[in-house]
Order: sequence, then structure tokens, then C-alpha cells
Amino acid sequence: MPQKKAYQAIIESKCPKCRKGDMFAYSIGIISKFTRMNEYCNVCGLRFEVEPGFFIGAMYISYAVTVSILFITGIFMWLFDITDLLFFITSVFVIIVTLLPFIFRYSRVLFLHLFGGIKYDSKSTNE
Ligand SMILES: [Zn+2]
Repeated sequence: MPQKKAYQAIIESKCPKCRKGDMFAYSIGIISKFTRMNEYCNVCGLRFEVEPGFFIGAMYISYAVTVSILFITGIFMWLFDITDLLFFITSVFVIIVTLLPFIFRYSRVLFLHLFGGIKYDSKSTNE
């Protein structure tokens, strides 16, 4: 089986060490459980929360994404000459709530992959 590239592992929310195990316990489609993470990788045994409170740092990424959505929505409204503040607030709210599962998950995935200090190891499987 060909090995996954780092970006593929990020897109598929896989473990940064083996790029095979799932970080999240359920599919993103199961909205009521989108926050549930596996504690350990089920392939290589890596503990995803590498230190206590590690994922608090993922807030910086989700904050940046949220502010970007706010700015992009603002630019669109400026381009289409819409000046209704309530429409702007409602639009931003709907977009952010809709994208919440993606923002939550990919903030954590990116934070772990970029700042977790975990090297990819193709032989790190228990199989
Ligand atoms: Zn793993």
C-alpha cells in the first residue's frame, strides 16, 4: 500500500505518526459526536493529546479561521454594496455554525500535525 503524504493525512484526519489511525472516533457526518476524539491512535498507539491541555492551542487556528470568515463575508458584502448590519451578523453566524464541525476538527488536526512535534514513522504500526 502506498504511503500517505502529510497533506493526505491532514485532510483525512489521520494520526501524524503513522498516518493510518483515525484521530476522531466518529465520521464528521455524525453531528452530535463530531467532537469525540480517540485518546490513542488505534494503529500505532500514539496519545493524541501529547500533553495536558495541548488542544487549547488549536483555538488559535480556529480563531484565525473564524476571523477570516468574518473578513471574507465583509468583503463580499462590500462588493455587493450591502450595508445591512443585521444581515452581516446573521450571515457570519450561519456560516460559522454550519462550518463548526470542520473548523473544530481541522484546527485540532492542523495543530497536532504542525505543532505536536511528532515525526512521521512509516514503521510505527502494530500490524
Ligand atoms: Zn498512529
